[in-house]
Amino acid sequence: MTFSPALPYVPRVTATVDLSAIRHNVARVRELAPRSRLMAAIKADAYGHGAVPVAQTLSTAGVDALAVACLEEALVLRAAGIEAPIALLEGVLSLAEAELAVQQRLQIVIHASWQLQLLQQLPASQPLQVWFKLDSGMHRLGFPIATVQSLFDSLQAHPAWQLQGWITHLACADDVDNPMTLQQIALFEHALRGFAGPRSIANSAGLLAWPQARVDWVRPGLMLYGASPLADKIGSDLGLRPAMRVESRLIAIHDLKVGDSVGYGATFRATEPMRIGVVAVGYADGVHRILPSGAPVLVQGVRVPIIGRVSMDMISIDLRALPQAQINDAVLLWGAGLPVEEVAKWAGTLAYELFCGLTNRVHLLHQ
Ligand SMILES: *Cc1c(COP(=O)(O)O)cnc(C)c1O
Repeated sequence: MTFSPALPYVPRVTATVDLSAIRHNVARVRELAPRSRLMAAIKADAYGHGAVPVAQTLSTAGVDALAVACLEEALVLRAAGIEAPIALLEGVLSLAEAELAVQQRLQIVIHASWQLQLLQQLPASQPLQVWFKLDSGMHRLGFPIATVQSLFDSLQAHPAWQLQGWITHLACADDVDNPMTLQQIALFEHALRGFAGPRSIANSAGLLAWPQARVDWVRPGLMLYGASPLADKIGSDLGLRPAMRVESRLIAIHDLKVGDSVGYGATFRATEPMRIGVVAVGYADGVHRILPSGAPVLVQGVRVPIIGRVSMDMISIDLRALPQAQINDAVLLWGAGLPVEEVAKWAGTLAYELFCGLTNRVHLLHQ
């Protein structure tokens, strides 16, 4: 996604990020987990919000560390002058990556024995900031719980390594009725009993819904951007402020006769005379093609439905509720007045995927 300099015109599609909302959401995390240190997840270009400006904002808001998925994401941040501690959540994939990670003072999550072996090929005197990831039941990444003792032994064998802590990840924290979360926490805590080192359990859902998961470190991502990871809740229900607003505008208005169809496949057909609008945004911008007729957008503060298929560069909307609509009117895809969580539901997905799905044709603006 582009980080636009001042433009002499209003870009066709904009994702405007309110950095003060992110600062507010950091304060909300602190309120919920006052005794925890905060590692902010800013992988995937800060969930589409722009990793560098978001990292700068988070650094001045006093977060304790940043987390990204992979080396490339961390290198972008270091190249932009971000000095904060940065953890690589998937660790390193090769010796060359390990060497770069060391050189850039990155914290390395070790989640499997092949990674441990890889890091053991570095000079023994090489200081290394490491996290160990344990699998408490999700069966995605992490060492089996039973291997804690041998991981601890490998630390003893590498006095230059600095243990940052022990991590696990929750599979069902967004489901407040699911007993799996407490089982995972209990397994993790039990396995580590007697072993030194900070613990880290909670993503946003864990932090919001499970006080037991607010341990030494919390690792929120989504909630920092003001969206809710919990089903049937939106960010504002949780004291969060949505940071992003995505807008395009009307570039055509038509009056249809009974029987006229709209868009590819002629899937929508007028059953009465009606006014429609064409909006300059489509799936090549990140508006999911699966969005059905009926999914809302906001024009002049009024909700109006998408009609017909989403195409690559455009969508069509029903303007019957808005006879005063004009060419160039702003059309909000999500943001204040139209929660991203609601749009995600229409698309059969989550706010996470809508955020990450914005393409580099969308102008990312920060205010
Ligand atoms: C992405 C990620 C997080 C943050 O998750 P959210 O649901 O966005 O809060 C935390 N921990 C790990 C290991 C992650 O990969």
